[in-house]
Amino acid sequence: MDILADNEKKIRDIYLLLKGHYPAPFSGLLEPKRNSPVDVLVATILSQATNDTLSDRAFEALKAAFPTWEGVVDADPSSVEKALAVGGLQREKTKKIQSALRKLRSDFGGVTLDGLANRSPRECFDYLVSLPGVGPKTAACVMAFGLNIPAFPVDTHVFRLAKRLDLVPRRWTPEKTQRYLEEITPDEIKMPLHLLLIRHGREVCSSRKPKCSICALKDLCGGDESSKKNFS
Ligand code: SF4
Repeated sequence: MDILADNEKKIRDIYLLLKGHYPAPFSGLLEPKRNSPVDVLVATILSQATNDTLSDRAFEALKAAFPTWEGVVDADPSSVEKALAVGGLQREKTKKIQSALRKLRSDFGGVTLDGLANRSPRECFDYLVSLPGVGPKTAACVMAFGLNIPAFPVDTHVFRLAKRLDLVPRRWTPEKTQRYLEEITPDEIKMPLHLLLIRHGREVCSSRKPKCSICALKDLCGGDESSKKNFS
């Protein structure tokens, strides 16, 4: 069996083991209050370099201060920064959000992503990463959670797990890992597996102290001894 076919089977095995181990996976990006693709875009930009609690608070504060995304585009940056202060990094995030939303209005005649409706997944991805403040992970989140297009965002947890489980070489970048995982993962399990790996990374396979002895994936990973060499 070649490595690619081997990993396709391994991905399915990982999914089945984690699915059996955790209840239904969930993301704040799936909450009904994120009820448009632009909501998901803004929420994902706000989630960069911070935790869920702070980014949720910032999103709620922004929605409370500005009933429409048009209002955010036209606002004085200082008033957007004031709303986002609860989540931190407000100056940088205000700049990214206003610039991205301004480009949507320029490209589509309104602050919307409806213009992507009939485009291929590759065209959607390429457009999204052309927006200020949007990298491959944010683009994949907007596709998966906002546009209902199969995608496999690789965040810090997914990246760490992919390396420790030897799905990808240690030297690969997150971007290359995301492209590879998208290629070998069946569409129907991309989003749930992404969520399951994040949960497993937070609760068991943490960066500093992985709990290999209680890990549901230890037979695939090799457990403590195998993982020790992976911590670099
Ligand atoms: S066995 Fe250890 S290193 Fe491997 S996935 Fe589980 S917790 Fe992570």
